[in-house]
This record gives sequence, structure tokens and C-alpha cells, in this order.
Amino acid sequence: MSPTAPQDTTWLHSRAPLSGELVGTFPITSEEGVSEVIDRARLASRWWADLGWSTRRTRLMAAKRYLARHAEELVDLVHREMGKPRDDARLEVALSLEHLHWAATNAERVLGERRVPGGLLTINQRASLSYEPVGVVGVIGPWNYPVFTPIGSIAYALAAGNAVVFKPSEFATAIGDWLARAFNSASTEHPLVQIVIGAGNVGAALATGGVDLVSFTGSSATGRRILAACAPTMTPVVLECGGKDAVLVDADADIDAAADAIAYGAFSNAGQTCVGVERVYAHRDIHADLVTAVALRAQTLRPGTHGEAAYGPMTLPQASDTIRRHVTDAINRGAHTALGGVASIKERTVEPIILTDVPEDSPAMVEETFGPTVAINSVRDLDEAVDRANASGYGLAASVFGRDIPRVEAAARRLRCGMVSINSWVMYAGVPSLPWGGVGESGIGRIHGADGLRAFTQPRSVVRQRFALPVSLTSFDRPAWAGKVLLGALRARHGGWRG
Ligand code: NAD
Repeated sequence: MSPTAPQDTTWLHSRAPLSGELVGTFPITSEEGVSEVIDRARLASRWWADLGWSTRRTRLMAAKRYLARHAEELVDLVHREMGKPRDDARLEVALSLEHLHWAATNAERVLGERRVPGGLLTINQRASLSYEPVGVVGVIGPWNYPVFTPIGSIAYALAAGNAVVFKPSEFATAIGDWLARAFNSASTEHPLVQIVIGAGNVGAALATGGVDLVSFTGSSATGRRILAACAPTMTPVVLECGGKDAVLVDADADIDAAADAIAYGAFSNAGQTCVGVERVYAHRDIHADLVTAVALRAQTLRPGTHGEAAYGPMTLPQASDTIRRHVTDAINRGAHTALGGVASIKERTVEPIILTDVPEDSPAMVEETFGPTVAINSVRDLDEAVDRANASGYGLAASVFGRDIPRVEAAARRLRCGMVSINSWVMYAGVPSLPWGGVGESGIGRIHGADGLRAFTQPRSVVRQRFALPVSLTSFDRPAWAGKVLLGALRARHGGWRG
């Protein structure tokens, strides 16, 4: 999905997607510039790691207060730079505050040094485990949730004791610059978050520039490139990539609730949501009613940047081409339109489109559309819905609607994806202690929660000898019988008496 960037070779001019209004002009970071920033971040990372849990927590809480107090400024910037309605930007900022708070207040509990039980062979050893910061984390972000998404990496990486170099999307540079300043307001000695500015080539320079870990959020295509670029140095990666999320609706589901969630999940943010609803599998008994209910809700939604707009314009200039290709192909192959159609797709705005009977192997069902379109197909039962939902290379998230909770929960357990909402959409995002991420082509690793803190660390195992055993197993002075006796005892323990 890498775009025609709004830039020349030395300056990046960030413009509002619909009006073209200039939001900010930034110097593009050269390759040498990226290296210098990483060097500065390394100094910051040592200083930050040495501050210890309690001081880091105090600093992060100060950054959180800055964000909270200046939230409306950030909301306005998000609205202007990437186009989403202010109220949706407010949700994003609110969620981000909760995550920053959780990361800051739980880091020591999750990552702090702890004793672990010794083994039978090592009763004389005191064993302990700690999670050490990796050092400098390169965070590469997308534009669609330009606050929530990078904070999911930045807050957790900082709380774990790392410094961050952040490459915001070229379509959200002013927002990235604002976020870096917010974090750095809590640290006058060294910047905690430094940004490098530019398009994909600057992201590539960051990924291969000597950072200790890359945390990337963006398309699966770019994720693959980053994985390959990091392979020679074995630089670890966290990849939060694309999705083709499904909603499963059982015969006894609350149709209104499901329709409400589907409409918001599919059309809010102009469908430019990694966990957006792109496919719906509805039990055949309620399929027609569900399509009608979603269409009723969607028919009054209008895109734009005016006060009444339900969602914004397409942020990327070429987004409409992908949507047109998917919708046209589906219709040519027999899909029906329950709302809108090809005519709904304008150059920079797209009105809601609902398709039904879409062939399962068509691009509209297989590729990420990333627009305000949804396919609602009919299925025999919830089992078929699960099978179809799972027949995707992606595996980010899904939702299941139904009143028979044991049946719905059983279906949720069989879904091949990282996150599931039952009788709602996306609510896992609001639970900071839950990890966020997907399987398959949706990515590698997790942000958020305890797993998201550990993602930015390396475990370190330490044993300390408390007393010497009469027989040392790791000595050339070990008696000849020791190995036999030891293995005999352990065979009895692990193999059973006849083993
Ligand atoms: P993108 O892959 O085009 O760009 C993402 C970032 O990567 C940008 O900052 C870009 O400049 C940078 N980049 C591009 N090429 C690079 C390279 N070779 N090396 C390093 N960096 C490079 O994605 P996008 O259009 O910004 O975002 C939309 C995509 O992100 C969608 O696929 C969406 O599903 C996904 N997304 C996923 C999540 C998640 O949590 N899983 C969240 C938000 C968005």
C-alpha cells in the first residue's frame, strides 16, 4: 500500500487529504541523518534504562498528563492531517491514554526481576529471571490510526526501558512530530522519542540502521520487506500488519446490535481500519434481515470533512482505485449490491457500499480493500461461517454475534486469529492488559498487555550458587558412578518404573 508520497527530495509537505491544505513542512531525514539519530537514541537508552522503574514510571505519567491536557490540540491535528472526524480522533486519543497508563504502571510488575524455582539437579542454585530492555527500538507507523497505533509500540517500549526512534507515516508526519514532543516534554536530559521523517526509504534506513528491534505497523507487503531487510543482522521484529476481518452472525443473534457493530466496523474511518469489518458471514435464516438492517444504518452515512460527515475522505490518493477494482470485479462475477455501487466511489471520497453473494475467491473477499465496503454472505450455520472466516491468509481479528453463548464461544475458540470480540466489535482494543496482534499474514508478535511489554525486552536468566554440592556434576573430578546414578534416578522419575 506504499503511496505516492506528498514530498520532494528534501522537504516533506504534509497536506490535508481532501482540501490539500498545508498542514506542515518537515525536512526529510537523510540516511546519514537516520544513523545519527540512532546514535543519539543509544545514549538516551542507556540513561533511561539506568533511571529505574519508579523514575521511568513518574516520567511516563508526566508524558501522559501532557497528552491528556493537550488532547484537543492533537485531535484537531489528526482531523486535519489524515481526515477522520474529530470525534473518532477523540476515541483514538482516549484509548491511547489508557494504554500509556497501563504500560507505565505495570512495567515493573511484568518485567521486574523475580526468583524462579530451581530444578532437582540445581537445588544449590538461586535462580532468577529479569527482562532487560533491548536498547533502541525503531517504531515505524501507519497513518490510519496515527496516535493509537504508534503509542501501542512507543509506550510499551519506553515503559520496558528502551529509547525510541519513530518513523511516522509520510501521511501523518505532523502527528508523529507532535507525539514525539509530548513524550519528550517529560525528559529534558535526553529525548525519549526522536523522529525520522520521510517515506518508505527512510523507514528502510531505520530498520537496517542498527536499531535493536523494529516494531512496525502497516501493510503486510511492507512487513515482508522489513522482515527480509532485518534477516541479515537478525534484528528482531514485531510486525502488526493488515487484515480481512470477518463478523459471524448466528441465527439467534440480536440483529440490530450486530448491524450497528457491522456498520460502524465497516464504514467508520472510511473503512481504513486494520481490524475493520470487510466480510460478514450471516446464518441464512437471518441473512436478508441483517443486510436490510445494515443498509438502513449505512444509507444516511456521508463521507467528507464537514460537520455532518460520518467519516472522512480516503487518506491515500490511490485508495479509490483499489476499492473500484474490488467492487467492479465482485459485481462482474455475480455479486449483488444492497447499498451503493461503483458510482459511490469518487476520487477522494467513497459512500458506503454493501455487497452480497460475493464469490469467496474474489479480491473483495481475499485482499484487504481498506475502504467503506462490506460483503455480507449467507452461510448454512456457524460452523460454515468459521470455516469461511478461517479461509484467509490474514488472521488479525474477528467478531461473533449470537445469543447461545456456549455455541458462540466454541466458534470463537475455533477462529484462526489473534483477537475476538463476542457480541461487539473491536472491544479488545480497550483492554490494555490484552495483547494485540495477528497470525499468518497479519503479522508476527504482539503489542499491548504483558506480552506487549515483554516484546521489547530480552529475558535474562541468572543462577547464583548458594552452596557447593558434595558431588559436582560439572567437574572433571566427578566420580565415575555419578552419571549412571543420576541417569538411573531420572529415568525412574520420568520414565516410570518399567520405563
Ligand atoms: P504501509 O505499509 O504502506 O506503510 C507503513 C509504514 O511503513 C509507513 O511509515 C511507510 O513509510 C513505511 N514503509 C514503507 N515501505 C517501507 C520499507 N520498505 N521499509 C520500512 N518502512 C517502510 O502501510 P500504510 O498504508 O501506512 O497503513 C495501512 C496498512 O497498515 C493496512 O494494511 C492496515 O491494515 C495496516 N495496519 C495494521 C495495524 C495493526 O495493528 N495490525 C494497525 C494499523 C494499520
